[in-house]
Amino acid sequence: MFERGALVHYHEIGLKGRNRSVFERRLRDNLEAALAGMPVERVERISSRLLVRVTDHSRIDEVCRTVAAIPGVSYAAPVYITSRDEHDMHAAALLALAEVPDAKTFAIEARRSNTDHPVSSMEMNRRIGQHVVDATGLSVDLGDPDVRCHVEVVQGEAYLFSRKFPGVGGLPVGTAGTVVSLLSAGIDSPVATWRIMKRGAVVVGVHFSGRPQTDDRSERLVTELGEVLGRSGGIGRIYTVPFGDLQREISLAAPPDLRVLLYRRLMIRVAERFAALEGAKALVTGESLGQVASQTLDNMAAVDDAATLPVLRPLSGSDKVEIIADARRIGTFELSTVDHTDCCTLFMPRTPATRATVAEVRAAEEGLDIERMVAEAVSSAVYRDFGSPAYRGPKRLPEGVTAAAEPR
Ligand code: ATP
Ligand code: MG
Repeated sequence: MFERGALVHYHEIGLKGRNRSVFERRLRDNLEAALAGMPVERVERISSRLLVRVTDHSRIDEVCRTVAAIPGVSYAAPVYITSRDEHDMHAAALLALAEVPDAKTFAIEARRSNTDHPVSSMEMNRRIGQHVVDATGLSVDLGDPDVRCHVEVVQGEAYLFSRKFPGVGGLPVGTAGTVVSLLSAGIDSPVATWRIMKRGAVVVGVHFSGRPQTDDRSERLVTELGEVLGRSGGIGRIYTVPFGDLQREISLAAPPDLRVLLYRRLMIRVAERFAALEGAKALVTGESLGQVASQTLDNMAAVDDAATLPVLRPLSGSDKVEIIADARRIGTFELSTVDHTDCCTLFMPRTPATRATVAEVRAAEEGLDIERMVAEAVSSAVYRDFGSPAYRGPKRLPEGVTAAAEPR
């Protein structure tokens, strides 16, 4: 009998002063994209929240879950939408409280966004609370109730709810610019990508596969990872680069212990080409300090020497247990543990350098035609788009770069 909706709360956006309406509009557009095909009306902005009216009430939890997964949302609440008439609010409070079945104690928490409503929040708490006590036998506990029924009164209507779906937090994708993420099919880089995306960046991935020296399994896994990460609206595109022959070339010309670093430096340069094309302002990797031999401070410095853009390492201070917990939460862990050959393990020496210097890696590159290698890598890239509402691809692509043929 009452209309229903998902009430969307966000907190960080409120801190952004003048940018506020930009942020709200971005979040609204991202939510609309995520909710396409679901039984909802347009997303409305209502005094520092968003409201999505749900037309098929049986699917309201599904709508809330979808909303809660979008960066920028602090929580989504399945609400009963009523008039500001006292009887309506009483009836809706009983329905909202009934959604938490085993509760014995409750509290009403009313809040008015418009002081044009004649009844104060305190008085509303008291009146609705009394009605609930009379109708149900539940008892009031203001300190530590089993359930809190929130009543939010705005211009013209009121929203009542007693459940919340916690959101992922962060900022709406598209409010922090674009980054290029070096995305492998491993555990770490999808998590690093997610963390940066959650801070409002649109991500363009670049994946290097071992093809033609290996099969294309890592490419297919990265595409699937892109789909999982893309559900939150932050993956614009992923470029896949067959890298095996270039690695072979490096391995024939360079000292074995520096191979991995030279692969990385070449990857960084190729990623920067795509960054320039996409207007991206930083690169992202999944490195974590000291996790493996190649991730020492010396080696990071030796790799960064090949970069001109900032290289963000959102996992640098996280340990594996924390990273795996994140991977499970965001749904990438299963895919990241499927067996595949990572291109970095191709032509891998027994003892990779752990403390390379910039001078050493530069010297090792002297015999290589780096410019040609970068150009070759870029021109053999294949890309796929992942439907981010905040992403616009470049108008022109370098010769040779093509869209993936098969549907994803
Ligand atoms: P991951 O779990 O992300 O694969 P890792 O623990 O295997 O990382 P490394 O192999 O040292 O660590 O890779 C470090 C980072 O370099 C990765 O997190 C990723 O950002 C980048 N990288 C490594 N291999 C590739 C690849 N094949 N394609 C794109 N980026 C890669
Ligand atoms: Mg890896």
